[in-house]
Amino acid sequence: MLNLNEKDIAVVMLGTGCAAPTLKRRLPSTAIVHQGSIFMFDAGEGTQIQFRKPRLRFSRLETLFISHLHGDHVTGIIGMLMSMELQSRVEPLLIIGPPGLGEFIESNRKMLNTFFSFPITIHETTGEKMKINNEHSVECLPLDHRIFCLGYRLIEQDRPGTFYPERARALEIPEGQFWGRLQSGHEIELADGRKIIPDQVMAPSLPGRTITYCTDTRPCENALILAQNTDLLIYEGTFAAGEEEKARLRGHSTAGEAYRLGQQIGARHVLLTHVSARYNSIADILEQVEVSATPQIAIARDLDTWIIPWSGQAYRLNERTTSPAHQAE
Ligand SMILES: [Zn+2]
Ligand SMILES: [Zn+2]
Repeated sequence: MLNLNEKDIAVVMLGTGCAAPTLKRRLPSTAIVHQGSIFMFDAGEGTQIQFRKPRLRFSRLETLFISHLHGDHVTGIIGMLMSMELQSRVEPLLIIGPPGLGEFIESNRKMLNTFFSFPITIHETTGEKMKINNEHSVECLPLDHRIFCLGYRLIEQDRPGTFYPERARALEIPEGQFWGRLQSGHEIELADGRKIIPDQVMAPSLPGRTITYCTDTRPCENALILAQNTDLLIYEGTFAAGEEEKARLRGHSTAGEAYRLGQQIGARHVLLTHVSARYNSIADILEQVEVSATPQIAIARDLDTWIIPWSGQAYRLNERTTSPAHQAE
């Protein structure tokens, strides 16, 4: 498992290619690691191998979000489920995705005559906002692709502001349990009958961090809604700038369009994924585009890890997150 600061959110780009896997780029999958929970967007073919390279634990995967039913985004689902079964998983798994996803998984399972002993809930949706655990919720909306496709915004719940011990002492609140309850956002009642609310000893709460995942899509209104003020926009860069016509016909975006979308919503970081095997560097796909200081744009490589710290200023870890087995590959 990644060695993370408890407050950090890590985004591990498990697969960043499209259409067919290559030696450099496996098919789309992105893992989000936060406070011991793992969430995942898409599961392209072979995702269970990519998942193991940064030593992520299958048992920690709580929710898998699927964008759409094109093969490069879903052929890894059954492999992931079978790997989890082999590891004797008992924890429930929630899978959220477009209509038809349940039938796809169930027909795979049936044809392979395989069974899963851990509880799997498949939630099909055409767009909604829902809570997925005590700390996180997700918003999904339809994008603009050749078939029905969902974009996602993973939202951390608002975070408590700084706690000021001197204020607590001035109010003669005994240290210990009372401090803990205030810090976790609860009102307390002291032995003398006084009621104290968190605002009396803490700074205002901070908005939770968000990560937006939009692939495969043309630039569209719903992508803008999902990406509003997001800390990290993961967006497709299937075509290079200059290939707008091809992108339009195929229901995709160019790197230039991704950049402009990021500019429009004031994103700080745009991370391009779903990248054609033809392109290796940001220069390859952003030729002709005038790039300014914001948003920062980067092309994701397989197993790149991004950290979104408490401050919200996302950055790429210098080293790729790999196990020795992968380094030897
Ligand atoms: Zn795709
Ligand atoms: Zn597609």
